[in-house]
Amino acid sequence: MGKKDDLRNELQQLVGALRNHVANEKDSCNPVSRLTMKREAIPRREEVGLSAVKAAAKAGAGKTTLTLAGVREELGECTRCPLHRSRRNLVFGEGSAGAKLVFVGEAPGEEEDNQGRPFVGRAGQLLTKIIDAMGLKREDVYICNILKCRPPGNRNPKEDEIATCEPFLMKQIEAINPEIICALGTFAAKTLLRTESPISAIRGKFHDYHGRKLMPTYHPAYLLRNPDAKKLVWDDVQKIMKIL
Ligand code: SF4
Repeated sequence: MGKKDDLRNELQQLVGALRNHVANEKDSCNPVSRLTMKREAIPRREEVGLSAVKAAAKAGAGKTTLTLAGVREELGECTRCPLHRSRRNLVFGEGSAGAKLVFVGEAPGEEEDNQGRPFVGRAGQLLTKIIDAMGLKREDVYICNILKCRPPGNRNPKEDEIATCEPFLMKQIEAINPEIICALGTFAAKTLLRTESPISAIRGKFHDYHGRKLMPTYHPAYLLRNPDAKKLVWDDVQKIMKIL
């Protein structure tokens, strides 16, 4: 083989190498190739696992833009119903903003009105004992009332007061997103469930409250007057504990 043939072979190898290089460069700049790489990097639904997809969907369900702080801010120093004139303190509610269990009573009493906190009188101390017996602390749950201001002389709330105040309770519940609501006493249970049935007929069973489980039970104040009913309340809260 002469020098000419050597030179031709060398040139052919160089041209081949150059073509391969150009082809590789084109491929790496091709948007379709890049897209393919990205798509392959995303795990497919079946690779993630259906249970994980369901868990993610469940976690997304019930999400709300409402926050307790936002609801409190919206309520402000409320004068929307006449009860604001006689109250000492507005009793918004207290506890965990992410509570799985929310206790709802009727309205603040004298001690609650004085302190601006829910369930802090004798009945409240009994509620705290019930919560302890459930293996929880007050800080683990959320405690509030249908009305946030004390009716004078602890009279029964009026319909227009409930109609004005209940939307804020509903917003609190939406913000907290609990699994279970426990309605304490006849008034709370009847008001939330829009029923005339007595508490003795509806307690001990879960009812639907805007898509959430609601368990009515006796008010702690009733238990102070009727200690024998404590066993029934214990039965009711055990049903709640089974779900939590
Ligand atoms: S009871 Fe409710 S609606 Fe009436 S003044 Fe108090 S916070 Fe406002």
